[in-house]
Amino acid sequence: MLKHNLGYPRIGIRRELKKACEAYWSNKIDSNVLFEVGKKIREENWNMQEKANLDLIPCNDFSFYDHVLDMSLLLGVISNSYLSIPITHDNNNIDLYFSMARGFQKNEWDIRAMEMTKWFNTNYHYIVPEFDKNQKFSIFSNKIFDELKESKKVLKSKKKIKPVLIGPVSYLFLGKEKEKSFHKMDLIEDLTSIYIKIIKKLKDQGVHWIQLDEPILVLDMSEKEKNAFKAAYKKISKFCSGINIMITSYFDGISENICLLKDISIQALHIDLVEDPNQLEKLLNFFSRESEMILSLGLIDGRNIWKNNYENSIQKIKKSIEYLGEDRIMIAPNCSLLHVPIDIRHEKSIHMDIKNRMSFARQKIDELNDLEKILKGDKSILLKNSSLIKKSSSIFHNKRIKEKVIRIIDQDIKRKNHFRIRQNKQKKKFNFPLFPTTTIGSFPQTKEIRSFRNKLRKKELSQDEYNKKIKNLIVDVIKKQEKIDLDVLVHGEFERTDMVEYFSDKLKGVLSTENGWVQSYGSRCVKPPVIYGDVDRISGDMTVEWICFAQSKTKKFVKGMLTGPVTILQWSFVRDDQPIFHTAYQVALAIREEVLSLEKSGIQIIQIDEPAIREGLPLKKKNWKSYFNWSIKAFRLSSYGVKDETQIHTHMCYSEFNDIFEQIADLDADVITMETSRSRMELLEAFSIFSYPNEIGPGVYDIHSPRIPSVEEMFDLIKKASRKLPIKNIWINPDCGLKTRKWEEVLMSLTNMTKAAKMARLKLINPS
Ligand code: GLN
Ligand code: ZN
Repeated sequence: MLKHNLGYPRIGIRRELKKACEAYWSNKIDSNVLFEVGKKIREENWNMQEKANLDLIPCNDFSFYDHVLDMSLLLGVISNSYLSIPITHDNNNIDLYFSMARGFQKNEWDIRAMEMTKWFNTNYHYIVPEFDKNQKFSIFSNKIFDELKESKKVLKSKKKIKPVLIGPVSYLFLGKEKEKSFHKMDLIEDLTSIYIKIIKKLKDQGVHWIQLDEPILVLDMSEKEKNAFKAAYKKISKFCSGINIMITSYFDGISENICLLKDISIQALHIDLVEDPNQLEKLLNFFSRESEMILSLGLIDGRNIWKNNYENSIQKIKKSIEYLGEDRIMIAPNCSLLHVPIDIRHEKSIHMDIKNRMSFARQKIDELNDLEKILKGDKSILLKNSSLIKKSSSIFHNKRIKEKVIRIIDQDIKRKNHFRIRQNKQKKKFNFPLFPTTTIGSFPQTKEIRSFRNKLRKKELSQDEYNKKIKNLIVDVIKKQEKIDLDVLVHGEFERTDMVEYFSDKLKGVLSTENGWVQSYGSRCVKPPVIYGDVDRISGDMTVEWICFAQSKTKKFVKGMLTGPVTILQWSFVRDDQPIFHTAYQVALAIREEVLSLEKSGIQIIQIDEPAIREGLPLKKKNWKSYFNWSIKAFRLSSYGVKDETQIHTHMCYSEFNDIFEQIADLDADVITMETSRSRMELLEAFSIFSYPNEIGPGVYDIHSPRIPSVEEMFDLIKKASRKLPIKNIWINPDCGLKTRKWEEVLMSLTNMTKAAKMARLKLINPS
């Protein structure tokens, strides 16, 4: 039974990679220094995994920016616009690579960055490959071969090296066609030939095992994709003898696609038993009858930070051995460890009872060893693990909070009256003009604000002094909004570093790590909070003071800003010892209490942001229903305690709603604001067909770019919207929060936006 790993975090324990990349981009270091940093991280990772007794160790899992972009360079999928940029093409093409990732602006050159999107349902973002109709593939970059050579120098046992590549079908799936005139899956034949060349080259360099990631296997595959898969792997198994190929699947099960594995002769298949433990039975049956492959069991959770439950894992291993024999089993984490922080030993301030239950990438590798030892008869490890997991302590469990969830009744997830009744009452009370204007919440987070926070952390500012400074900013932002003449004002969110972290710091049962960084994209890392216990508000209010202070400075309405329960869960590491819906309802109840506090303090418009509802969607459609069951209920729970007259807003920053309209309508927020300006309002087509019942603010100002949209341009978008939606339901607002923008841009853009709204009131309203 071999132990292996699919991929290890590459940011470095002190985020060395981030720091080096950013220094390189701002010309503070040259490429040799950058390469040294990369080399050192790889060396450390390999050494560690070898010392930890892994039998197969990944290589080429390192990346300076993104492993999908690495694949595009390897395969020569590079648009001409990047090839023509005036940069030197030696140095492993690092400048070409970064221009594709980040764009290139210099002198008269202004080439955009390639598109970025989410890696399946994780919070990692990859660079989307773009294919031409006549796309040619070639071996363009030597990265994988160079890293292989390097790994041979580092590792004592050369046989252990396992280069990792994204498989051809998933690679095509992840990319997009530049024009609509062809289907990307039609490129599979050419692409496969290049893969065969690469595999042969790796074999010639002495490689025994190679890992081809094919996460497409866990999706609802189309016929075209299935055919591409069969074609590719028939060819690969035919032409690549003498080297062991492992196909990996992860993030869900592959039961529905098992038939694709018939007639292809690769040596191993990896499955994810964390996300879908139930697939094991089916695969064992298939493997014992129709295949000679090795089955790699993905047992250790590479997407969460909890210790493995050894008893569960051992049971699965034993069962698999019973069916297939020890030689046909491998054990591993379910997916690459890219999605978890590196080493729990660097956390100094987490309570021991919690820390003992946690496991980061480094610890997860050791867990594989533990499993092996238990299998060989070491009972003490198993006992220790079981008692740890079963140990019930007041840190994790709070009867009072659990009872709150049990006491939830249907009334709690219903607004008192139907939207139409609420809308009437609200229109009367607020008396907004048609096309009311507002923003999404945050205003520019300047260097000045960051320096206040730094000083607070270093105790150079007292909490009182800091609060005073934030209040000054609020006074200022209120004045600015009044001058711009927005209808609904906000307090600016200056007190928040991050919309999830801010709340998690104020919730019982949630902790922040010191060093639990995870790569989000390129050099950007995030530090997700850990929801370890029953969740409640710590004491009193989380936002009321700030919002009420802002309200006291103006006669206009100030909107209270909260982060919704689904987004808090989605961007945290969530406990795995109780069903997720239970945790979600606890968070929802905490937010609900805050909503009610705001209402009681006189705040009459409250926005609950849920930008992550869509990304939490399960990969397979058949699992959507159960997801929506708890996520919609959690949102409703958080928002529905209020009076009819209190207006609930929500915000989502993306524009793919086509398949989830009904569910969005089910949230029954009085107003939803969302992104639409980049797609020129295409989205609204769908909203009008479905005749979305409540009020909508389709973003008219694209905040992702420094450009200042003109009055006419935004007026045009409003005009488009008013053809599709009832005018009385339309709000005017930007696409998303303004915290990443500069003040000059924001002032001009918002001024233009309110002008456009006024123009719409004059020109688009038919007095009849
Ligand atoms: N209220 C948040 C802001 O304005 C919303 C951010 C988001 O949608 N991601 O920054
Ligand atoms: Zn947004």
